[in-house]
Amino acid sequence: MPGVDTPASAATVFDLDGLAALVTALKSKGYRVIGPRVADDAVVYDDIDDVRDLPAGIGDEQAGGRYRLRKRGDSAVFGYTVSPQGWKRHLFPPRQKLFAARRSATGFEVLPPDPAPPPFAFIGVRACELAAMAVQAKVFGDKDYADPGYQGRLKDAFVVAVECGEAGDLCFCASMGTGPAVKAGYDVKLVELAGKDGPRFIATAGTARGEKMLGKLKAAKAADGDLKAAADRVAKAAKKMGRKMETATSARLKEFSEHPRWDQVAARCMTCGNCTMVCPTCFCTTVEDVTDLKGDNAERWRMWDSCFSVEFSYIHGGPIRSEARSRYRQWITHKLSTWFDQFGTAGCVGCGRCIAWCPVGIDITEEVAAIHESLKGRK
Ligand code: SF4
Ligand code: SF4
Repeated sequence: MPGVDTPASAATVFDLDGLAALVTALKSKGYRVIGPRVADDAVVYDDIDDVRDLPAGIGDEQAGGRYRLRKRGDSAVFGYTVSPQGWKRHLFPPRQKLFAARRSATGFEVLPPDPAPPPFAFIGVRACELAAMAVQAKVFGDKDYADPGYQGRLKDAFVVAVECGEAGDLCFCASMGTGPAVKAGYDVKLVELAGKDGPRFIATAGTARGEKMLGKLKAAKAADGDLKAAADRVAKAAKKMGRKMETATSARLKEFSEHPRWDQVAARCMTCGNCTMVCPTCFCTTVEDVTDLKGDNAERWRMWDSCFSVEFSYIHGGPIRSEARSRYRQWITHKLSTWFDQFGTAGCVGCGRCIAWCPVGIDITEEVAAIHESLKGRK
């Protein structure tokens, strides 16, 4: 991941051809370019060949338990809110081989690791998603339990961020302090402006390599009017957030382990774990060993897991969190409260994915608001 709080260079402006040239330049440098595209009636972050793969004219509608694509009526290529899939699945794959071993004359030998894949270039990373990468960088950068694979993928990734010009109905990054303005952690930052001949992009470099990459493009210096339009768009998005988190109360959740609200939410929660799968900061895993039938070859795999599964809290004698109440409480209290004790930050960046992809529409901001209301008048 690019450095933090790097000084921004002078802004330039280019059109879709300029963005195409950026994608080509990244590919010629050996990057595997990942960007938004439509698949399975959703915007997903996957390999793109060129800008024709981007979701031109596509927006989305999100509500509790609901996600639909819609036509925007313009040709914006970054006109959706956030993809159901975060960039997490590229940096922290859902299934990853940790090592392989084979039987030898003297026992077992551990095989050399698979060759490193090419570095990623991510196109279209939102402010809340950069914040999520920074959160996971802390999780996987822990001095005692560092994950060099994650750290390497993040360090090598070239990040093209896109500032949000519109907030979604489920967004609450403004109250979490993670967006919508992109402030750090990018190589190149774009703001998309609608134009009668198609979108234009105000581009700013955040790192030396971003500056070098932008230098390869035929781009004009951005006019004052364009800079003002770009700043106005993000300011407007900040004012139109669909949700708000009561952060003073959310940070105190660990004090309310016996609150009656946990029973109410448990009556609705199906403990399906969807919220943890779509969350860009959740990091729980399990480990599985597999062997061939003869027992000559063995592999150890790490896979995403969820604190909503009964097995996840299994220790000698049984699971610690056998009820839905305790599993939901664990998830939300860790995310919003005890995560500070562990990592010095919240584990929520306000993207709203867990609300859209909860089959019964449980809303993390609503759950905190209910506890917040119940505290009024109490010391
Ligand atoms: S808890 Fe929900 S809103 Fe917060 S980062 Fe995770 S998915 Fe996004
Ligand atoms: S809160 Fe919603 S998405 Fe999360 S486990 Fe419960 S039912 Fe599933």
